[in-house]
Amino acid sequence: MDASDASDASHTPDSPGTPRARSGRSGRFAVPVEAGGGSGPALVELDRRVAGCGACPRLVAWREEVARDKRAAFADWTYWGRPVPGFGPADARLLIVGLAPAAHGGNRTGRMFTGDRSGDVLYQALYDVGLASQPTAVSVDDGLELYGVRVTSPVHCAPPANRPTPGERDACRPWLVQELRLLRPTLRAVVVLGAFGWQAALPAFAAAGWVVPRPRPGFAHGTRVRLDGPQDGDGLDVFGCFHVSQRNTFTGRLTPEMLCDVLRKAAGAAGPE
Ligand code: SF4
Repeated sequence: MDASDASDASHTPDSPGTPRARSGRSGRFAVPVEAGGGSGPALVELDRRVAGCGACPRLVAWREEVARDKRAAFADWTYWGRPVPGFGPADARLLIVGLAPAAHGGNRTGRMFTGDRSGDVLYQALYDVGLASQPTAVSVDDGLELYGVRVTSPVHCAPPANRPTPGERDACRPWLVQELRLLRPTLRAVVVLGAFGWQAALPAFAAAGWVVPRPRPGFAHGTRVRLDGPQDGDGLDVFGCFHVSQRNTFTGRLTPEMLCDVLRKAAGAAGPE
């Protein structure tokens, strides 16, 4: 099967139908599955449906072109070349929301923030604050486990120049809304990485049942916003954090200490497992 077979334009964020099987060409590239808690099977199903989405023609073309052409350093890889689902347990109390998979990172490995320098920074920090089993993330079968944390993004396909269009952001939002609804029974805190994720996530929080103030609070590193939930006790603490992009980490705009500080605060707000 060629990577171009992976797209399924009939399967979109709003289509409720049963997804086609999206397993890769080897077990190494199977859709990452993380069950746990009462929403586990539903979240596994959602992840499978996400991995089969073909709603954005530009992103479908790009993710598959990258998967065909590859980067020389990864010439022996069979790229995932499809939407990258969220990663982490269904009973997560903390969610990390990024931007979109990297062309030669998540789009290659099939797992969020896995196989690129942004992921190196993020998973090292999660490990340092006790939320991950190991500091590295290189492939879906590397043994990495997250403790009470799930990692996702508002756009599930790698975009050219790491820049999804507003239309692509909006097209992908229903996936995030569905994911948030499934996580809601346990989810108590979110770290949003960067302004793009912030702008994409706030409407999704509202659509998933939390009360988002109007006007919507702006993004800033270190900001913290409390969102009331539909019932007592299911409010959400949302933290802003600069994105773990190379541009931010190489320039020192975001240091490991700054990232760990936000993660520790968010984990504290999320409460014990
Ligand atoms: S970005 Fe989202 S909505 Fe668009 S094709 Fe990828 S998974 Fe589907």
